[in-house]
Amino acid sequence: MLKGNDIYYDKMKVGKNIIDNRDKSIKNYVAIFDIDDTILDTTKNTLIEPIYNLYKYALSNKIYTVFITAREGNKENIKYTIKQLKFFNIKNYDLLYLRPPRLKDIEKFKLYSRMNITECGYKPLFSIGDMYWDIGDFGGESIHIC
Ligand SMILES: [Mg+2]
Repeated sequence: MLKGNDIYYDKMKVGKNIIDNRDKSIKNYVAIFDIDDTILDTTKNTLIEPIYNLYKYALSNKIYTVFITAREGNKENIKYTIKQLKFFNIKNYDLLYLRPPRLKDIEKFKLYSRMNITECGYKPLFSIGDMYWDIGDFGGESIHIC
């Protein structure tokens, strides 16, 4: 049985495997990350190292990276989120989605964001997150941290 941090190491390995086995002729792959309790521990306000390593591994393999967070996208939260990511040395992502305040349905927001990524011309390689809505249609392979 996986417990505590081991689950993140396990999911990191799954993600690295997907990266290693991708079709290397495809140049527009994107890795889609959730933020809270996926790459950042919201309780301790720290990085979740294995998932951060996976993010870095994606970058070193020239894969685009995107963050989709259900944090409400008001001005303050946008500023705070960018600053917080920067603090943890997360600054080379290509897109960052925060939930429009009028859109209350997180599942729809996450799906629409993934659809938008595809419409922007990227090809989702995998999506990783701790909630069921972080993965699914238009997200490539699913890595559910659970
Ligand atoms: Mg989350």
